[in-house]
Amino acid sequence: MSAQRATLVVGAGQAGLETVTALRDLGDTERLVLVGEEPVPPYDRPTLSKGYLAGSQRVSDIVFHPEPWFAQRDIELVLGDPVTVIERDIAGGRATTASGRVLEFTRLALATGSVNRRLEVPGADLETVLDLRALADADRLAAALDRLARDSARLVVIGGGFIGLEVAADARAKGVEVTVVEATDRLLGRVVSPELSDFYLGAHRRRGSEVLLGSTATRIVPDGDGIGGVELGDGRVVEAAAVLVAVGASARTELAEQLGLDIAGGIVVDEHARASDGVTVAVGDCTSLPNPYTRGAPGRLRLESAQHASDHARTAASTLAGTPAAYTSVPWFWSDQGELRLQISGLYADIDRTVVRGDPATEQFTLLHYRAGLLVAAECVGTRQDHIAVKRGLDKGMTIDPDAAADASVPLKRLLTPP
Ligand SMILES: Cc1cc2nc3c(=O)[nH]c(=O)nc-3n(C[C@H](O)[C@H](O)[C@H](O)COP(=O)(O)OP(=O)(O)OC[C@H]3O[C@@H](n4cnc5c(N)ncnc54)[C@H](O)[C@@H]3O)c2cc1C
Repeated sequence: MSAQRATLVVGAGQAGLETVTALRDLGDTERLVLVGEEPVPPYDRPTLSKGYLAGSQRVSDIVFHPEPWFAQRDIELVLGDPVTVIERDIAGGRATTASGRVLEFTRLALATGSVNRRLEVPGADLETVLDLRALADADRLAAALDRLARDSARLVVIGGGFIGLEVAADARAKGVEVTVVEATDRLLGRVVSPELSDFYLGAHRRRGSEVLLGSTATRIVPDGDGIGGVELGDGRVVEAAAVLVAVGASARTELAEQLGLDIAGGIVVDEHARASDGVTVAVGDCTSLPNPYTRGAPGRLRLESAQHASDHARTAASTLAGTPAAYTSVPWFWSDQGELRLQISGLYADIDRTVVRGDPATEQFTLLHYRAGLLVAAECVGTRQDHIAVKRGLDKGMTIDPDAAADASVPLKRLLTPP
């Protein structure tokens, strides 16, 4: 198969946008097409459970660039028209969109992001069972929260991960009654330390959310046209007028499957964001990449993080441009739950010592996590300066003496040393 020289980037989210931007920044002049399924230009998805849901930001505030910006940079932007069929050989290939548009390419990047996991219980398809991934979901959820606030009704959030808890905090701030149902024995258990899970359990309960740990939703109970409640594994029914399902997300791999690429919890890529065919590039949430963390455990990682999407896109663009550079960024992540801002740098895994800096009771503190005496991650609640210091330190391969780290009167940046 051969095609006129053109680069196709499928998925107009953060990773897709940053890939085309980085290609132009690298001086790449090839024809560039960015195709998105959603009808809006790339936008800041994390705001959907934060400022946009709260009503303090509008679409124009969260869209990264208006459409003319793309034309100015000679980027063809196709919106609201997903690629449904794709084929390629080493030299190039052809993608067909839902509307029948045919896009030929010589270089291909997949930036297809994540899809929310579904709740497989009876009643999960009722109309007021909601989830949150795209702008249209956030609009539906915001309208539902307004209704619940007006009717003094309850929202059940199924899943105590970041998105569920961010929405729970926003709903409480709007005066909605909230119950969070979490199947495991702690909140945010997949990604944060047990100490931080405990802190957030207390913080959400103090703000009036009911949090049920070790509880599984087994049925959504209908009531007339709507919802009456959520039945739990122990037979109890929590009354609710709406449900948010926030039970995690998986990589979107449909197109990668059509191309016969290796998939292992995400599209398998090497440190240059190259997929198993050696020519397709995959970037952002949809990928499974070698752990880039210099002090990390071996194995592969799938990261759902806006910062990762941006950093990984620069790696992908370099590979497409023929100047590959290995991805080495230290992951970092943030979450706003009400007025509490959490910033995490590094990855919490195989930790053998944790130092608490500051008093969690004040809702401003830092947890520094160590493996074999070396700093590998930090969780900062309302301690931005600590986050900045640790992130910079980890980026440069530095550490902090754990015995000195607890003294909050000494700025962490002064304690950074080579290992
Ligand atoms: C509600 C919410 C809150 C979040 N909060 C945070 C946060 O606080 N901090 C943080 O770091 N991260 C957060 N995240 C995660 C972050 O948004 C993602 O990690 C990041 O957006 C990943 O970027 P991406 O481009 O890889 O994927 P996405 O942003 O998911 O973009 C992929 C795009 O590809 C499109 N697409 C898929 N298949 C096709 C196709 N076949 N054809 C055309 N288009 C296609 C999708 O519709 C989507 O628009 C949040 C996510 C959500 C949903």
